[in-house]
Amino acid sequence: GEPFMRILVTGGAGFIGSAVVRHLIRDTPHEVANVDKLTYAGNLESLAGVADSPRYRFHEIDICDGPALAAVFAGFRPDAVMHLAAESHVDRSIDGPAAFIETNLVGTYTLLEAARSHWQALPQADRDAFRFHHVSTDEVYGDLAGTHDLFTETTPYAPSSPYSASKAGSDHLVRAWQRTYGLPTLVTNCSNNYGPFHFPEKLIPHIILNALHGQPLPVYGDGAQIRDWLYVEDHARALVQVVGRGRPGETYNIGGHNEKRNLEVVETLCDLLEELAPGKPAGVARYRDLVTFVKDRPGHDRRYAIDASKIQRELGWTPQETFDSGIRRTVQWYLRNEAWWRRVLSGEYRLGRLGQG
Ligand code: NAD
Repeated sequence: GEPFMRILVTGGAGFIGSAVVRHLIRDTPHEVANVDKLTYAGNLESLAGVADSPRYRFHEIDICDGPALAAVFAGFRPDAVMHLAAESHVDRSIDGPAAFIETNLVGTYTLLEAARSHWQALPQADRDAFRFHHVSTDEVYGDLAGTHDLFTETTPYAPSSPYSASKAGSDHLVRAWQRTYGLPTLVTNCSNNYGPFHFPEKLIPHIILNALHGQPLPVYGDGAQIRDWLYVEDHARALVQVVGRGRPGETYNIGGHNEKRNLEVVETLCDLLEELAPGKPAGVARYRDLVTFVKDRPGHDRRYAIDASKIQRELGWTPQETFDSGIRRTVQWYLRNEAWWRRVLSGEYRLGRLGQG
């Protein structure tokens, strides 16, 4: 059997973090302390199925708050940290970069220091076994436009947006804490995720919900930007394998080998909705008629694609979903979980926060 760990997860109320927490509670013996500030992107309703487990606890904390983090480390005594808390939306980083610098850089630094104090006070055997796993993005590598190359773990960093620059900086901080202080770290860089519980500002849920409401389906520029899509539950399984069995100091790229143009993704969603939600909103003949091209995002990278052969070779991880199976599951999930997204669209999902109604 798998050895039991106490894992401090940051950002566990977010899209990927909640998939990690659901997977840890349902499929492993590990204990979880979820540290999350509950920004607009945090939604405790995504954890409804696991929150009453005796192996789960929640702390509403900002990762920039060092003393609050120290108290969680002292009380929970984690064997590992899985760090997912971040500001994650590229468009928001263009409109207001400050929160990205604060959370992604200052927050990661503050968490590293809290982890290092805890780790340094452990007995030697526990120090060797401790892991600080930083979850990052393939966007740190920049744009692969016009090539057939794939990002590997040694591709030089060339971030384009305030979001990817702040994530790149946080990756460098984590590696420096390994090299300088010996903190046993792991870094993973993953391609675009999609799946259940995805906040509707992101492309796939935004398109599904707009289509169901008969609203325009905005496509940036010519829609030819290529992303490499990974089903979120495949990512969550990869992360749990890395934190358990990854080699400290290493980086692992994670991706689904699913390069798709954005327009292709939108058209696939329209076709699935034709099949699965045939009762269209008034005045809509075909979902594809709702596609509307809008001004491109400034600095928009044209192509990302991941070489995931290292994690496959070393840890035996491969995705279970193809793009076709995963995108179908995702559309079905949104059709069956209207209560979840209605409360997101109306803002009611925020009512669970401390000090509010
Ligand atoms: P998300 O925006 O859905 O969730 C982020 C979570 O972090 C939210 O619950 C939010 O409340 C919390 N948070 C934000 N600021 C915080 C702070 N200062 N203190 C404590 N909690 C805070 O993001 P996601 O899509 O789940 O991404 C999770 C991680 O994975 C991020 O680090 C992101 O960079 C990375 N990533 C995302 C993708 C993707 O496609 N979504 C791909 C690769 C990597």
